[in-house]
Amino acid sequence: MPCFSGKTALVTGAASGIGAACVAWLAARGTARFLLVDLDADGLDRINPGGEVLRFAGDVADPRLWRKVADSHGVVDFAVLNAGCADAAPIADIDFQQWRRVLSANLDGMILSLQCAMRAMAATGGSIVLTASVSGIKAEPGTAAYGASKAGVIQLAKVAAREGAPQGIRVNAIAPGGVDTPIWDQVPMFQDLVTQQGSREAAISAMGQMATPLGRYARADEIAAQVGFLLSDAAATITGAVLVSDGGYSL
Ligand code: NAD
Repeated sequence: MPCFSGKTALVTGAASGIGAACVAWLAARGTARFLLVDLDADGLDRINPGGEVLRFAGDVADPRLWRKVADSHGVVDFAVLNAGCADAAPIADIDFQQWRRVLSANLDGMILSLQCAMRAMAATGGSIVLTASVSGIKAEPGTAAYGASKAGVIQLAKVAAREGAPQGIRVNAIAPGGVDTPIWDQVPMFQDLVTQQGSREAAISAMGQMATPLGRYARADEIAAQVGFLLSDAAATITGAVLVSDGGYSL
């Protein structure tokens, strides 16, 4: 798509999974300059999309990281605000530290990155996609912290869409269901399933079959293409939308 050619993109959670797939998707369409953010410094070093790449290793919930990003960027055209972590526990058993870890990465990190992106687009306009989750829409036992954080991300996208519109900034959210990425390895219930099924691949396949009418979870490159659509001029009249991409799980 010509709209990405020569442009600058900010991507958080860029070292792995959906974020890395979004970087690859944008690079394949001519994005010339990347600002990549992730906690995982080594993982970030392995992402080489070509063009000019500025890497910022750190926590998205740390305001000092965003001061560094703001000091080093000029105009930002596109932003994929995607860094996040998962956890699962029933409300009665939630450890408050875990609650804070999830809310900090997924929600505190999101407001700081959104603020940085919107400031960098204020003069020229731009397009932003926030990675939410279907857990921010559909209630499932064990998803209190993660689901509350992602419901917050959806509302942030809507408010940002209202505030950004006069400046030509579109803001949308994508709400994936299950996607085959390393994030699952943080969920204890998934580790049990891997043991039961004999491999990680079999566990992902079993979950996709059980949970979705389409019978499978998504791949990261499929979600990246949908994020790319929302970023692109093809979605020029779409703002404040939540694109649910869950194989029918939430129906
Ligand atoms: P992933 O674990 O492969 O990638 C997440 C990346 O975010 C990692 O590189 C991690 O280091 C980084 N990260 C986590 N916390 C961070 C922090 N505080 N500061 C900076 N970087 C941080 O997982 P993924 O599936 O690609 O996750 C991307 C996004 O997609 C997340 O927001 C996640 O909640 C969301 N999501 C994933 C799924 C799924 O099934 N995989 C479903 C719905 C939504």
